[in-house]
Amino acid sequence: MRNKTAGKVYIVGAGPGDPELISVKAMRRIQQADVILYDRLISKELLAYAGPHTELIYCGKAPGSHAMPQHLINEALVRLAQDGKTVVRLKGGDPLVFGRGAEEALELATWGIEYEIVPGITSAIGAAAAAGIPVTHREYAASFACVTGSRCHGDKTPIRWDLLAHGVDTLAIYMGVSELPAIREELLKHGKSAATPVALIERGTTKRQRTIVGTLADIHTLAITMKLANPALIIIGEVVRVRERLMQAEQHAVALIG
Ligand code: SAH
Repeated sequence: MRNKTAGKVYIVGAGPGDPELISVKAMRRIQQADVILYDRLISKELLAYAGPHTELIYCGKAPGSHAMPQHLINEALVRLAQDGKTVVRLKGGDPLVFGRGAEEALELATWGIEYEIVPGITSAIGAAAAAGIPVTHREYAASFACVTGSRCHGDKTPIRWDLLAHGVDTLAIYMGVSELPAIREELLKHGKSAATPVALIERGTTKRQRTIVGTLADIHTLAITMKLANPALIIIGEVVRVRERLMQAEQHAVALIG
């Protein structure tokens, strides 16, 4: 049974990096929160919209380290809601795309605590768009998949590189920077062409966005040369060619007008 005096938890997507890419609903939740538990990849500018008395709790996890273990985050969400607080759990991108938002929702549901999920623009969609890459395109791609590039202890589903190599046109790979050579190996092993275009998008949609373009043949060495750093996305597929076409068209237009 629900505790009538308990607060509510909003599991909110902050969008891909540019603070303006948050939704109106998400922004409203931030403004109304008593407590915000936020992740590493959210734009810190968004926290400025919280009220002067809002408690801000950092739960971010850098790759390879854990600022606050998941079970403690779950416990904190339950405890704060039981104390009657309006809680915002603010996550990068969309809370349900590699965001563990569903694990938190499940914990809250188990305790009979009210929660709401506010979706966000996931970083693959945001970063690809900002780099001039459509994830689908009538000439190049009828499908796309969001794939995790790294596995953690306890992950139960295998990554089917054998099927992904052929069954999906555009691959958007999250958390894949340190695994790039292994991902490349898997795709080549399963017959993906070495000429397939690849884009690496670092800090997508932010002022410091950087895009590196290559092919499956050379992308791992390009990443080293260019010192690719997290957070970054790997976009694999013919759609990457659209970026080039857009850039050429823009240069042509500038030449014409100028
Ligand atoms: N829930 C998030 C994903 C969290 S997993 C979402 O929907 O976007 C963390 C991974 O997301 C990072 O390792 C990186 O691959 C990707 N990522 C998040 N923000 C990014 C950004 N601004 N630019 C590029 N990749 C990003």
